[in-house]
Amino acid sequence: MKDISKQDIENNINLVTRKDFDREVKAGDVLIGGDNLAVMAGPCTVESRGQILDIASAVKDAGANMLRGGIFKPLTFPYGDPLGQPDAGSGGSPRDRKEILSKKELFQHAKRRLGYLKEAGVKYGLPVVSEIVYADSMDMMDEFVDMFQIGYRHMFNMDLIEALSKTGKPVLIKRHYGESLRSLFGVAEHFEARGKHNFAFCERGVTVPHTHNVESRSILDIQAIPAMKEYAPTVPVIIDPSHSTFKRSYVMPMSRAAIAAGADGLLIEVHPRPESAWVDPLQAIGFKDFERLMKDIQKIREVII
Ligand code: PEP
Ligand code: MN
Repeated sequence: MKDISKQDIENNINLVTRKDFDREVKAGDVLIGGDNLAVMAGPCTVESRGQILDIASAVKDAGANMLRGGIFKPLTFPYGDPLGQPDAGSGGSPRDRKEILSKKELFQHAKRRLGYLKEAGVKYGLPVVSEIVYADSMDMMDEFVDMFQIGYRHMFNMDLIEALSKTGKPVLIKRHYGESLRSLFGVAEHFEARGKHNFAFCERGVTVPHTHNVESRSILDIQAIPAMKEYAPTVPVIIDPSHSTFKRSYVMPMSRAAIAAGADGLLIEVHPRPESAWVDPLQAIGFKDFERLMKDIQKIREVII
């Protein structure tokens, strides 16, 4: 896999690597990058109206300034529910029935849950970020979200890049666990070349031979933070300690390390009962841990700024 060369900077990624470009990345009224730390906290999946309202209230009290909530879940296997809900369809779990929801049904469920997410965001003054999976859901999602997330599986999806280049909302681009910064910057350059400049990078771990325990899948690439800052100093860097470690007890230490290394923010999974989260129960942290983490982060910021 190639890394970034001088020729790349001159010819292939000359826009994203500009040093003196006035790039403003703003979700609702929250500035991402610069002196502002963006903490995007919330569940892997929006499970119900009550759940997202509870979480929004707790993360706001603790000091988060954005709400994350998954609605469309890109699944590895076809028999789960792409909304992350075991029984979204009628007649039991789609997984048991080995059926898939029609796109129309899927969009109907998604719209309802996007409504819950937005309601919670508005009620607690937290702009919301959610993943887009289908390019033709963009207009629907645009009514509800303040920032679009491109998941690692969709990093190179040209339909999404085309569609998202047309919205004024910012985009959070996740780096695939097997892809280089060169490739990630290439995706960013596709946006730049289409006149879209308000995006941020999200680091969510890389594949390595060992991750130190059987549960975790990848390792947080802390070194990507100074590397991204060196190549593309105007693009904010958000760290996702949840999907990179995939292990609850690693999430707080890695979040602290990310802030110390100069990250512009965190995308972090928080759930009232982490072990019973519908999706990713091994990595979500509870309200008390999140509160503690926010206090730690403030102290670290005071030292490094
Ligand atoms: C997520 O943030 O909910 C998610 C599924 O992320 P990733 O694409 O990193 O797996
Ligand atoms: Mn998740």
